[in-house]
Amino acid sequence: MIELKSAREIGLMREAGQVLAGVVERLRSTVTSGLSTREIDEDVEEFIRARGARPAFKGYRGFPATVCVSINDEVVHGIPSPARRLKEGDIVGLDLGCIVEGYYADCAVTLPVGEVSPRVQQLLDVTRESLERAIAECRPGRRLSDVSHAVQSHVEANGFAVVRAFVGHGIGRALHEEPQVPNFGEPGRGPRLRPGMVLAIEPMVTMGGWEVRVLDDGWTAVTQDGSLAAHFEHTVAVTEGEPEVLTGKRGGD
Ligand code: MG
Repeated sequence: MIELKSAREIGLMREAGQVLAGVVERLRSTVTSGLSTREIDEDVEEFIRARGARPAFKGYRGFPATVCVSINDEVVHGIPSPARRLKEGDIVGLDLGCIVEGYYADCAVTLPVGEVSPRVQQLLDVTRESLERAIAECRPGRRLSDVSHAVQSHVEANGFAVVRAFVGHGIGRALHEEPQVPNFGEPGRGPRLRPGMVLAIEPMVTMGGWEVRVLDDGWTAVTQDGSLAAHFEHTVAVTEGEPEVLTGKRGGD
């Protein structure tokens, strides 16, 4: 069952989302070569707690950190480490969630470390655009797979591939609620979207094939062929009118 959220519930998720928007804004300036992924994690945890929120991932199914930090061919769920340092030319996926009064928000961004090639920049741009196109579908009367199709069609038109093994999700009083939100599929299928639905939409896109595997640490998912991957995510509320990006920066992004 897809739970519909009240205005009060969406308000709490907006508060959580705005903490995450603040984190992302901060990461845009702090992510530089030489920084360890553990240092990023500690800084973000402190930022979240200082705003009265709680990290959502730390302890979730035993995940040991606040932020999933996934570099280059790592798609999602990378574990921060003091031994892992960012290098010029890397791309780094940062996925994080937080909780305010029992309500969750979830978002992700992939940032370049210094200069990257034009095709790598295009991977980042196309993944972000595919999320924007998916968000534009989040209106009453559209069907769930219209969201999925918006991602897949834009990604594949640009010669990239959509990861199948991980999908977006409903979100609210739990990090993962119904429905699953795949990043692929034919349009016009699945439940109709209704005001009060809140979805975490999260395209994961690679420069090669869509197959992934999980490393021996039990968490880190990498592309099977070693190609680079990007990941962007927003928590989005369906309203009577325009979709509301709860994790979006206020006043334009
Ligand atoms: Mg998510």
